[in-house]
Amino acid sequence: MSRATEPAPINSQTSTQADVKTIDIQPDWKTEFSRCINSTDELLNYLQLDPQQLSVSQQAALSFPMQVPWPFVRRMEVGNPDDPLLSQVLPIDAEMQTMPGFSPDPLKEADHNPVPGIVHKYRNRLPLIVSPHCAINCRYCFRRHFPYEENRQSKEQWQQALAYISSMPEINEVIFSGGDPLAANDKFLGWLTEQIANIPHIKRLRIHSRLPVVIPSRINQQFFGWATTTRLKPVMVLHINHGNEINDELAASIAQCSANGILMLNQTVLLKGINDDAEILSALSEKLFDCGVTPYYLHLLDQVQGASHFDVGRDKAKQIYAQLQARLPGFLVPKLVTEIAGKRSKTQIISVGE
Ligand SMILES: *Cc1c(COP(=O)(O)O)cnc(C)c1O
Ligand code: SF4
Repeated sequence: MSRATEPAPINSQTSTQADVKTIDIQPDWKTEFSRCINSTDELLNYLQLDPQQLSVSQQAALSFPMQVPWPFVRRMEVGNPDDPLLSQVLPIDAEMQTMPGFSPDPLKEADHNPVPGIVHKYRNRLPLIVSPHCAINCRYCFRRHFPYEENRQSKEQWQQALAYISSMPEINEVIFSGGDPLAANDKFLGWLTEQIANIPHIKRLRIHSRLPVVIPSRINQQFFGWATTTRLKPVMVLHINHGNEINDELAASIAQCSANGILMLNQTVLLKGINDDAEILSALSEKLFDCGVTPYYLHLLDQVQGASHFDVGRDKAKQIYAQLQARLPGFLVPKLVTEIAGKRSKTQIISVGE
């Protein structure tokens, strides 16, 4: 109903006549972004579901707005209240529970914020908060309480961040992070990438994004214009949690990325009621393989306030993981990991085998 969010972050580049001409054939990604569904009524009406039955919470939507792009919605099954894509985006009553151990900033990122836009906790690689926005708001997100607005950057602040990178010779990889970095416009991303490519000790550019998953048209010529044109070796880590998220449109975008020399990886969050099942996870790995993506990480949920209903206990996670290992070749088994505040890398969880 009411749009609680601010307008989508379509910064300096406005739509051109050319965009307008093609709108109804295949809308470009910015158009898709601006058309995201923010109303639970609209979403459930489209899916022919009853808001009461699903315990929809407007209060939850107020603290973290619902936002979901149409290309993602179209992959949901009409009439299925347990649809695994729907459950990732629908604000429900369970989010209002507080749970011991679940806090607003479980990763203590506020402690690693040396320069605005920089979260420096890994030794050789440096994530940059390139865009505070996302095209989709995932209910389990550990960044749902992060003060993104304080990390909004001016060009001068970016110069400061670049100077910081230049002064740290041990950093050889820059990670475009967020929010979702691909929510930023290509002109800015092109500028930033060029600056980074000018720093001799940086070898790799990694992009952590869910945007191509939820709006596959994000992968376009403008994107390749900066992502694959410098000396930096590009790596993209997608975020896909369920095989139903992969359709032909997404597969085509991924194929283009691979064809342009981007190493394609995926990370998944283990989510109760969505993918906490070896069958579902092995189907996901197989589908990823089919489109040329290597499963990289399977994360335990970060213990963020409002997401405790998605938590799969560690023992259950290990059990599922052992079953997954029994079903897949090693190269299709993602690493089961958890993020521990203050640690310099993710912590791998070793399962005992089935
Ligand atoms: C885990 C993680 C990193 C560091 O990744 P590695 O693959 O462990 O080097 C960087 N950014 C984000 C958002 C991550 O989740
Ligand atoms: S940062 Fe990733 S997981 Fe969090 S809301 Fe954005 S797209 Fe979803």
